Amino acid sequence: MFKAILIEKDEAGYRASVQNLDDAQLPEVPIGGVTVKVSHSTLNYKDGLALTGKSPVVRKFPMVPGIDLVGTVEASAHADYKVGDAVVLNGWGVGETHWGGLAQKARLHGDWLVPLPSAFTPAQAMAVGTAGYTAMLCVLALERHGVKPSDGEILVTGAAGGVGSVAITLLAKLGYTVVAVTGRAQEAEYLKTLGATEVLDRAAFSNPGKPLAKERWAGAVDSVGSHTLANICASLKYRGVVAACGLAGGFDLPTTVMPFILRGVTLAGVDSVMCPRPDRLLAWQRLGQDLDLTKLGLITHQITLAEAIPTAQALLDGQVRGRVVVDVNT
Ligand code: NDP
Repeated sequence: MFKAILIEKDEAGYRASVQNLDDAQLPEVPIGGVTVKVSHSTLNYKDGLALTGKSPVVRKFPMVPGIDLVGTVEASAHADYKVGDAVVLNGWGVGETHWGGLAQKARLHGDWLVPLPSAFTPAQAMAVGTAGYTAMLCVLALERHGVKPSDGEILVTGAAGGVGSVAITLLAKLGYTVVAVTGRAQEAEYLKTLGATEVLDRAAFSNPGKPLAKERWAGAVDSVGSHTLANICASLKYRGVVAACGLAGGFDLPTTVMPFILRGVTLAGVDSVMCPRPDRLLAWQRLGQDLDLTKLGLITHQITLAEAIPTAQALLDGQVRGRVVVDVNT
């Protein structure tokens, strides 16, 4: 038996609860299956949506949510993994269409796993989680498009959230000048501790703006979308780049072609879920190299499996700062 959060949807409604499940209930993986004894999971924005049912993230019921997990291999039919190996999982539809990480045990396809990077403890790997690995993918996107620290300021939106907090930490360590955008003025000191040089009110970005505004940002990491992303596009410098990964403010994008055709700006989309394995391995390797672990500690707090259910609502309400690690064995 193992403990897990189970999401059920039936005539009685949509609900999440901690339950004791039998190993025989774990999903079948006909080829290359790996059973993982999970030590930690996390709460990402998407887990918040799944646990509350606010958006149709979960595609099959009953579902164990949790798009991230870390643990040790208990049984393996995959050539790359043997019993006792420490592994990490991010995405691949786990927690949406396949039972996920908010559980003491998971059965997964071995191709989805990456070895736990030596730079991190299991809990630290989940402090990074999908949010942190996505922040790294965003930084890599800026680099790939040639944005250098000497080019000017980098804007980070949703700054006090998971993606935002890790993005600021990474960019500051890499020598970029980072400007943070937040709706929580009380988090200004926290954001400066992570490395932001200036903190702006998100109200200045969240309303409709002009197709073109004064050029300011050499690059941006946006986890908000909607008018915020449109306003970023309008105020990027000539040939600036925005790495767009989120929709915390809305999934629409009310922009014009003007920034693209007159200033040659780049809108670089970032997806972590189906991101190919070489890019994942690169992102984790760079996280091991470029993420300040002391700051990762400041970003993170730990909760129990049962606490994940109420914390999910708090996360969607914008009340959670940084990253949440779930110790699934407490
Ligand atoms: P968090 O909830 O930790 O952070 C989101 C932050 O966005 C909040 O902390 C808040 O920051 C800001 N925010 C919330 N609501 C609004 C709003 N209505 N308008 C403007 N800003 C708002 O989530 P994550 O960091 O885990 O994820 C951020 C986004 O990135 C989500 O949309 C998520 O779905 C997406 N994402 C996408 C991935 C991908 O593969 N493309 C992977 C991971 C995440 P503040 O209080 O500082 O303003």
